[in-house]
Amino acid sequence: MSVEEFELIDRIRLRSALRDDVILSIGDDAAVVQVPAGKQLVIATDTINRGIHFPDNTAPADVGWKVLAVNLSDLAAMGAVPAWCTLSLSLPQGDLAWVDAFLDGFFELATASRIALVGGDTTRGSLSVSVTVLGLVEPGRALRRAGARVGDDVWVTGTLGDAAGALAQWRAGAVVDPALRRRLDRPTPRLAVAAGIAGIAHACIDVSDGLLADLRHVCDASQVGAEVDLPALPVSPALAAAFEGARRQALQATVGDDYELCFTAPPSARAAIARVAQEAATPITCVGRIVAGAGVRALHADGSEWETPALGFVHFA
Ligand code: ADP
Ligand code: MG
Repeated sequence: MSVEEFELIDRIRLRSALRDDVILSIGDDAAVVQVPAGKQLVIATDTINRGIHFPDNTAPADVGWKVLAVNLSDLAAMGAVPAWCTLSLSLPQGDLAWVDAFLDGFFELATASRIALVGGDTTRGSLSVSVTVLGLVEPGRALRRAGARVGDDVWVTGTLGDAAGALAQWRAGAVVDPALRRRLDRPTPRLAVAAGIAGIAHACIDVSDGLLADLRHVCDASQVGAEVDLPALPVSPALAAAFEGARRQALQATVGDDYELCFTAPPSARAAIARVAQEAATPITCVGRIVAGAGVRALHADGSEWETPALGFVHFA
């Protein structure tokens, strides 16, 4: 390990806040944590690369926030509570200023989410950052993609299409609306909603590839179909001001990077879901229903089916 690498890891170590259940953190060959008795461990990993998962001009603090946010979103989609994480950094050169700014964003979200950084790896290479998160659930309570039942409502947190709107403006060389760009750079993992719906939802996924594509995964895993009401898709004021009509619906339904949760629950849970929305201070909107069959149909207000232009997230590199 070079002096530079040592200094870099030391900077990370000094900023990593500890939890009582961290026995051994950064500085040994591996970390040791105390897993609470009677809990199950939930584990997820996601990597983001410059030019593929974030635009070249993304601020380092936003890269730090986002790499943790996309991982926490996976824990939220499982109904898990965050506990520990590791961070793998591939950096073009030992740019300490870049790392300090990156850590500002990373630890801002880590502190807010009560997750402790306990280790990682640092290498030289093209800019790429990878996080592994570990979270906890009550035994058998993890929210899976399988489990949606015919008659369930389909729910979505927050609003859809903001990140897609920012990408569309950026690609077109237009002025990017700051509110939309903020949602692309700093997605909010829906951990509070996840905690609330853990005993209520039948199936859950986070929207990273686009609502219709991600709901399709739920349907395939659950061996059911779904209908989505396009006019019901929740829209932010910023997106509504910038895009309209079919263009906006395409951004909302078929492009990802929102990191909202999409889950299904029986109609009997509607009042409970309204309470979760209030407690989590996050809108939760019913956007459709689970039906017999297979696949996802997106419907206009008159009930006719929308022929979707494309399904899923298209990388912008
Ligand atoms: P080893 O050669 O034993 O793998 P390293 O030099 O890779 O050790 O890492 C030394 C310590 O620093 C380990 O505890 C490791 O988890 C931690 N570490 C290395 N890089 C990072 C990083 N990017 N973030 C957090 N901890 C890191
Ligand atoms: Mg190592």
